[in-house]
Amino acid sequence: MTGTLVLTGGGRGIGAATARLAAQRGYAVCLCYRQQRAAAEELVRAIEASGSRALAVAADVAKEADVQVLFERCAAELGPPTALVNNAGVLETQMRLEQMTLERWQRVFATNVFGAFLCAREAVRRMSVRHGGSGGSIVNVSSAAARLGSPGEYIDYAASKGALDTLTVGLAKEVAEEGIRVNGVRPGFIYTDMHASGGEPGRVERVKALVPLQRGGLPEEVAHAILWLLSPEASFTTGAILDVSGGR
Ligand code: NAP
Repeated sequence: MTGTLVLTGGGRGIGAATARLAAQRGYAVCLCYRQQRAAAEELVRAIEASGSRALAVAADVAKEADVQVLFERCAAELGPPTALVNNAGVLETQMRLEQMTLERWQRVFATNVFGAFLCAREAVRRMSVRHGGSGGSIVNVSSAAARLGSPGEYIDYAASKGALDTLTVGLAKEVAEEGIRVNGVRPGFIYTDMHASGGEPGRVERVKALVPLQRGGLPEEVAHAILWLLSPEASFTTGAILDVSGGR
């Protein structure tokens, strides 16, 4: 077995592609979902049918108690986590900043920033050699929006991913001597349900001409970058943020 992976938001989209690839690479996969239980459990059954180990846990990463449960169940049922992918993320309806409410910003930051911080904290407490762990690897799923700013769509989402990138840079340095590498990926326009949350399910088709490679990306293309960063092949890479965005 390669190790035990805690993967947030693993039932759909980029998370589901990451769960499948991680299982193929030998990880036992503990994935969490917030609402879509059926999708998460179906994925777990498919992974188990292919001979790997997986577990789906209902956990809202924005809730501290849920995150504790996620890590405790992972350790009890699959083994101590050796890898974390902070993938769970949300965005809300496209609009200009002056139309947005404080409540919206709090929801977006609660999942995209504080959820990732909570999971990173629990991972470090368990993985760090400083705390008796045996090391590990963390990948934060950011967005090209952190560089581009998402004007007219969701500056709040873009800013939350900027915060996530700073978590990657700072935590990588903080735990580098404790056996933990921390990296990030910044996907560009990827074909998933997320764009429907913004009110434009066909968004990738509209914007793909802006991408130098002239197309949207597939969740599997992001998953390959995540799995490389998690793996020993990336053993001298920490604090890096890899753009997986077709050149944009
Ligand atoms: P998606 O298809 O909308 O899936 C989002 C996943 O996150 C779902 O599994 C969802 O769980 C989970 N989730 C959301 N809030 C959660 C919470 N509070 N607690 C636990 N799980 C939660 O999105 P995606 O496109 O795969 O996005 C995955 C990541 O990639 C996100 O961080 C996103 O910001 C980033 N990203 C995506 C794109 C893109 O173009 N798609 C581009 C750049 C970055 P349920 O299934 O239970 O709802």
